[in-house]
Amino acid sequence: MKVEVKRSKRRKRTISARLDGDIMYVYAPLDTPEKELHKIIKDFEKRFARRNLKRKLNKEDNLREVFNKLNKIYFDGKIKIKSIEYVTNQQRRCGSCNYKKKTIRISHYLAHMPEWVRDYVIMHEMAHILEPNHSKAFWDIVYRYKLVERARGFLIAKGMEDNQELDIE
Ligand SMILES: [Zn+2]
Repeated sequence: MKVEVKRSKRRKRTISARLDGDIMYVYAPLDTPEKELHKIIKDFEKRFARRNLKRKLNKEDNLREVFNKLNKIYFDGKIKIKSIEYVTNQQRRCGSCNYKKKTIRISHYLAHMPEWVRDYVIMHEMAHILEPNHSKAFWDIVYRYKLVERARGFLIAKGMEDNQELDIE
């Protein structure tokens, strides 16, 4: 990512940035200290990189297709959701489910894990559409998927399974 800084007298306080292809244009007031500008540029770079990664992963992996497959096999096609996508702002949670809005978000880390682990996480979040808690009824649904134990073991080894209990919104 190339960075081009444009300083302007008219700009009073705010610094903004936009990405055009591979060039990031940063607009800053004339008197912004170099050090402050540098830090803000780093933050923008991170943010744009996360956004690009999110787009790329969602383009490469069609999670809606995975959802449809699991829905058909394990839920008789009965689960309805508004969206399912990878997100890059969930560092510690594998996935999350907003059962009211009917949206599922999957951590981008899962994109680099085996498919059966990713499928378990999707299955887990899908079950929350029916059971927005971690009750026995909830786990009975999740365990329709045969590789639950293996997948949870895998995630524990990656330090991610502990946060599974915080995934309901
Ligand atoms: Zn959960």
